Amino acid sequence: MNIPRLTLIGAGPGDIELITLKGIKAIKSADVILYDALANEELLEYARPDALRIYVGKRLGKYVYTQDEINYKIVTLALEYGHVVRLKGGDPFVFGRGFEEIEYAKAFNVECEVVSGVTSAIAAPASVGIPVTSRGFSESFWVITGTTKKGELSRDISLAAQSSATIVILMGMSKLSEICEIFTQNGKAETPMAIVQNGTRKNVKSVVGTVSTIIEKSNTEKISNPAVIVIGEVVSLSEQFNEQLIINNYQLRK
Ligand code: SAH
Repeated sequence: MNIPRLTLIGAGPGDIELITLKGIKAIKSADVILYDALANEELLEYARPDALRIYVGKRLGKYVYTQDEINYKIVTLALEYGHVVRLKGGDPFVFGRGFEEIEYAKAFNVECEVVSGVTSAIAAPASVGIPVTSRGFSESFWVITGTTKKGELSRDISLAAQSSATIVILMGMSKLSEICEIFTQNGKAETPMAIVQNGTRKNVKSVVGTVSTIIEKSNTEKISNPAVIVIGEVVSLSEQFNEQLIINNYQLRK
């Protein structure tokens, strides 16, 4: 009998090549793969032909399975088939509910391993030329969720708005106007800001501006999920930001 075990893999931010070698090896040895919406489906091509593939992300905006159902599935499938791979977008421990799955599986004596991944919090900004830190521009970065368990805006956003750190917000698009409002109240209306949709993927799309201009730009470009929001001086280092400055200056002179 196969030993029941679970490997939680970070599939990376979207670009299929941004998964680790260890992640690919685990996919190759999986008996079952449970994968999320944000994990690139092309990675399933590395799986054995007989491996069971189960989609557990959203369909038509709704979750196919609740977190409890996913936890239960992990355990029952591991007991029945052996090696279950849980393929998650980005890094499994960054807003991925990875730890909950591990805790649950361990309670049933399922062996667990975590394979870290490249998080979208860093890679999505990087894919459009925005570094989360840069000497002289930012000494730290915060990664915050826009939406808490209760569906409210995280209180950390107000705290972050008082700092000089780079702020990266995941799952924040539905709270964009509230976020901009908080930064404006903290005297940050002119702080550079960017939104990156589908970072590292071929269909990547981004807008840059400032806290006071980003909502209009985002609406014009129809930016939607999945997207990361970046607020901080580092945004001004991107080519897109500098092109925008040239265009703005030109229009001012006209
Ligand atoms: N564990 C994941 C995050 C899961 S939360 C990670 O480490 O990346 C889901 C959120 O991640 C999305 O709402 C979005 O804010 C962000 N996200 C994931 N992939 C993305 C991508 N390719 N481009 C932009 N944002 C992305």
